[in-house]
Amino acid sequence: MTFDLTPEQDQLRDAVRALGRRYGHGYFVEKAKAGEHTTELWAEAGRLGYLGVNIPTEYGGGGGGITELAIVCEELAAAGCPLLLLVVSPAIAATVLSRHGTEEQRKRHLPGLADGSQKIVFAITEPEAGSNFHRLGTVARRDGDGWLLNGRKCYISGVDEAGHVLVVARTEDSSTGKLKPALFLVPTDAAGLTRSKLDMEIVSPENQFLLYLDDVRLPADALLGESLDAGLPALFAGLNPERITVAAMGAGTGRYAIERASEYTATRKVWGGRSIGSHQGVSHPLAHAAVQVELARLMIQKAATRYDAGRDLEAGVAGNMAKYAAGEAAALAVDTAVQVLGGAGMTTEYGVATLLGAVRAGRIAPVSREMILNFVAQHVLGQDKSY
Ligand SMILES: Cc1cc2nc3c(=O)[nH]c(=O)nc-3n(C[C@H](O)[C@H](O)[C@H](O)COP(=O)(O)OP(=O)(O)OC[C@H]3O[C@@H](n4cnc5c(N)ncnc54)[C@H](O)[C@@H]3O)c2cc1C
Repeated sequence: MTFDLTPEQDQLRDAVRALGRRYGHGYFVEKAKAGEHTTELWAEAGRLGYLGVNIPTEYGGGGGGITELAIVCEELAAAGCPLLLLVVSPAIAATVLSRHGTEEQRKRHLPGLADGSQKIVFAITEPEAGSNFHRLGTVARRDGDGWLLNGRKCYISGVDEAGHVLVVARTEDSSTGKLKPALFLVPTDAAGLTRSKLDMEIVSPENQFLLYLDDVRLPADALLGESLDAGLPALFAGLNPERITVAAMGAGTGRYAIERASEYTATRKVWGGRSIGSHQGVSHPLAHAAVQVELARLMIQKAATRYDAGRDLEAGVAGNMAKYAAGEAAALAVDTAVQVLGGAGMTTEYGVATLLGAVRAGRIAPVSREMILNFVAQHVLGQDKSY
C-alpha cells in the first residue's frame, strides 16, 4: 500500500496547481459576477492536456485514469477555481463515450473533449422525478430510422457552453414493451430543444438550465452505443467518475478555504501581540476542518485507485463515501473560514463567502447526501429500502 503519487502524478499536480494559481479565485469570481465563463482557463487547461488526462491516447487524451482527473479537479479547486464542468464533460461524458460509445462517436467527440475545444454536458434530472430516476418521463420514440425526444430536464449545468447534451431518456423495449433508459447525444442547437436559465444563489461562472425537449428529431447515430442495451451500463459508467471528481473538487475547495483562513488568523491581532489563531476557539475549528478534508482525500484516493484498477463495485462504495465525506468537509471548511475571518469573511475581497453557495450545493448535487446514506445503508449495511 502506498499513499504517494507517482512522479508523473506529482508533476501533474504541481503543474495544475501552478496554472490554477495564475488565475486564482479573484478571476473565478470576476467571471461569475460578470456573467461570463472561465473560457481562458478552460482553453489553457485543454491545451496543456489537463482536460483529457483520462481520455485514451488514440483519441487525443493523456491515457491516464480518474486518479489523474481527480488531481486536476482538486488542484484547480484548491487554487479557488472549482470548475463544475470538469465533472460533467471530462468525467461523465468522456467516460461514458470511451466505455460505451461507438467507434464513430468516440472519434467524433473525444478529441474535442480532450483538447477542451468541445464540451458535452449531462442531463438526467427532471422536475417530477427528482432523485427517483426510475420515474424519468423523457421519452424517445422511433421516428423512421431516427428518434423523436420529448420531455423536461432541470438544473442542467453548462448547456450554454456545450456543443451537445447527453440526455438520459427512456425507450420502449420492443420485446417486453417496458421502458428502459437510453442516452442520446443531442446537439444544443437541435430544433425543438429550448432552455431557460435558472437563477441560482451560487457564485459561479457556470450556469444551470431548465431544458425543454419538444419533438426533438435525432438521427439514428445520436443513440449512444451500438444498441439500446448500451443504455443502462452507460448510465452506470458515469456514476463513479462523477462521484470521485466532485469529491475531489470539494476537497480542493476545503483546502483553499482553510489556507485562506489560516493565513488570516496567523497574522490578525486584536488582543495585544497574539494572533487570533493562538486562541483555540479559532484554531481548533480550523484544525477540525483540516482533519475532515484530509480524511475525505484519503477516501477519494481509495475510490480512484479502485476505479482505475477496474474494481467498479468497490469503487462505487468508496466513491459514494468519498463524495459524502468531501461534501460535508468542504461545507464545514468554508463555513469555518468565514467565521474565523469575522467581518472580512463576508467580503468579496477575502474570497471565502463567495464559495458558500457552491459548497452548500455540493451536499445536494450531483447526488444528495441522503441518497448516499441510502446507498450505504442498503449496500453496505444490508438494510431494507423504504422507497
Ligand atoms: C448546482 C447544481 C448543478 C446541477 N447540475 C446538474 C446537471 O448538470 N445535470 C443533471 O442532470 N442534474 C444536475 N443537478 C441536479 C441534481 O443532481 C439534483 O438536484 C439532485 O440529484 C437532487 O434532486 P432534486 O433536486 O430533484 O431533489 P429531490 O429528489 O426533490 O429531493 C429533495 C430532498 O429530499 C431528499 N430525498 C429524496 N428522496 C429521498 C429518500 N428516498 N430518502 C431520503 N431523502 C430523500 C433529498 O436528498 C433532498 O434533500 C444539479 C443541481 C445543482 C444544485
